[in-house]
Amino acid sequence: MDIKSDIRLLKGVGEKFNLYLKENEISTIADLFFTLPKKYECYQSKDINQIKENEKILFSGVLDSFTFTKFKLKNEMAILYIKNGIKLKCVFFNQSYLRYTLVKGLIVSVCGIYNPEKNEIIGSKIFFEKKDIYIDLKYKLCNLKDSQITKLINTAYLSTCPTFEETIPLFLINKYKLLNINDFIYKSHNPASLNDIKQIYRRSHYETYLNYVCSLKILEKNILKLPKTDRNINFTKIDEFINNLPFSLTLDQINAANDILKDINSNHIMNRLVEGDVGSGKTILSVIASYAVVLSNKQVCLMAPTEILAKQHFDAFEELLKKYQVKIALLTSSTKIAQKNNILKSLSTNHLDILITTQAILYTSNPFFDLGLLVIDEQHRFGVKQRSYLLEKYKDTDALYLTATPIPRTLGLSYIGDLKISEIHSKPAGRKKINTEIISYDELQDYKMLIDKEISSSHQIFVVVSKIDEDEIKYDLNEAESLFKELVPNSRIIKLNGRLKDSDKREIMDKFKNKEYDILISTTVIEVGVDIKDATMMFILDSDSFGLAQLHQLRGRVGRNELDSYCFFVTDKKNNPRLNVLKHTDDCFEISEEDFKLRGPGDYLGEEQSGFTNLEFNADNAIFKCACEDANILIENGDPFVKKIAKELQQKNLKLN
Ligand code: ADP
Ligand code: MG
Repeated sequence: MDIKSDIRLLKGVGEKFNLYLKENEISTIADLFFTLPKKYECYQSKDINQIKENEKILFSGVLDSFTFTKFKLKNEMAILYIKNGIKLKCVFFNQSYLRYTLVKGLIVSVCGIYNPEKNEIIGSKIFFEKKDIYIDLKYKLCNLKDSQITKLINTAYLSTCPTFEETIPLFLINKYKLLNINDFIYKSHNPASLNDIKQIYRRSHYETYLNYVCSLKILEKNILKLPKTDRNINFTKIDEFINNLPFSLTLDQINAANDILKDINSNHIMNRLVEGDVGSGKTILSVIASYAVVLSNKQVCLMAPTEILAKQHFDAFEELLKKYQVKIALLTSSTKIAQKNNILKSLSTNHLDILITTQAILYTSNPFFDLGLLVIDEQHRFGVKQRSYLLEKYKDTDALYLTATPIPRTLGLSYIGDLKISEIHSKPAGRKKINTEIISYDELQDYKMLIDKEISSSHQIFVVVSKIDEDEIKYDLNEAESLFKELVPNSRIIKLNGRLKDSDKREIMDKFKNKEYDILISTTVIEVGVDIKDATMMFILDSDSFGLAQLHQLRGRVGRNELDSYCFFVTDKKNNPRLNVLKHTDDCFEISEEDFKLRGPGDYLGEEQSGFTNLEFNADNAIFKCACEDANILIENGDPFVKKIAKELQQKNLKLN
């Protein structure tokens, strides 16, 4: 048995287990070794006086006493008192084996979350020895427990004594004193100290970035230079169209339109990103580009992230192009089947010019007769794989991406230079700044009068709660409802969440829009596109748990007319740096730069590449810069490493097709 062997050869892998492993793309022993934990949770022993609320700790001492109590029929709680200088209470829920293992006077170590108010630990694990650190590995696999994976990996180590082929050029391993591949894999599954974790992150981030940057550079070389058929843009007709618009374009819009038209008219495939804040007027650029392509007798597909946005675009396109005999259709998941078939038929027989749709169509089929332009709206992520997939599938098709979440310059321009970028900085005149405050839950009371005033002026309020996620969340929809019912007892409140059916979501939004309710409590489903003119106030609960770009997008839901508007970031961690950035600026370019400084590049690399999170961010940026410089050297020297990546990229495409 070696690492290339089938996972089923390992002891303990039965049929069902194998099925679950397959679901997680583990079929060989090597796959198993390369399935690394997504996260490490560290429990360390600490001085109780210096521990913050909800901090993870490890506490060792002598088991002084314990009791068991039942509650709510079947549930059981074990209360342990552990003595080590001080006596600390520790509570375990539903761990019935404790009944048989606890003995007074034993040395124990418990891991858990500390609650200073009650001076107790909510325990998650207990060891019958003294420990200084415990590292919990979170593999986060579907249908598989972390303990199952850990056990299987141990079995695999014992059965195969594996050695792995190095995946980073040796001179780079030496240059940065990175863990070699064997130590890296072993320590990833068996970290013993915080330093181990630091070394794991260093290597994994460096490798991720190196791969990513090399991939982009290869794509840039191979794909961006791809030739295409002549478009022969009719500039006279386009000028006419622009001159007849109900408004005149801003300078930034004119420049961006020129960039786009030049790309379309060139003999290489376009791959351009337009960056501009919400409301800065990106849609019109896609209309101009689409019209140009339709005039060249080719089809256009515009993809939006949500149905609501697709409909909005459809209306805008129809309105602006109605005088020009352009045939446009809208296709979403709620399009009736007969109509859908009609649309697909018209597309394939070239009786439709522009299709407006959601992203699903991209991956399901290619119903076009001759697709000349693909517009992707609100594209935040630019995974290499997704992009090469599109470019492979639509070979004679220009691509235009629109986003309100700019790629930080530090990342986009100085280092990669793969996508061409147009920026729109100007905003429509008359937009007011949204009053933004960071407040604690206690301070909510102080704004009661303001809330009452807004409601009595017939203005509306959004309350946003963070995703329901493990133990970190404070307020879910129901708790937020109670909070606001208490704060403003006479208000009419409705709730919305992403798990509802599309038709139910629309109904709730319509009712809110029609002012049947004052307050909409929602998860982040309202993040993009929702346009409620009289919404003047937003409360984002547990706002410290959101990302910067997301908070900026959310805040953009208010302040959509001339009224004064307010956004409150509610949190008990008021000194959160992200929230402070937003309090002081509403420029999406500045925000993306700050976000990059705070978070590092991981988030821009697409889900697959992002791998680990939780790094010291500044260190992360330094790693990224090194990886960028090294990628350039590797490519210049035609290093075998680069050839390997090129081959892998090719294989990925083949697999996807
Ligand atoms: P976004 O960049 O968020 O996609 P939109 O394209 O939806 O923004 O534009 C927001 C609004 O501004 C639309 O109603 C659009 O018609 C209008 N708009 C776009 N460009 C201009 C302009 N140059 N002058 C005035 N209004 C404009
Ligand atoms: Mg838009």
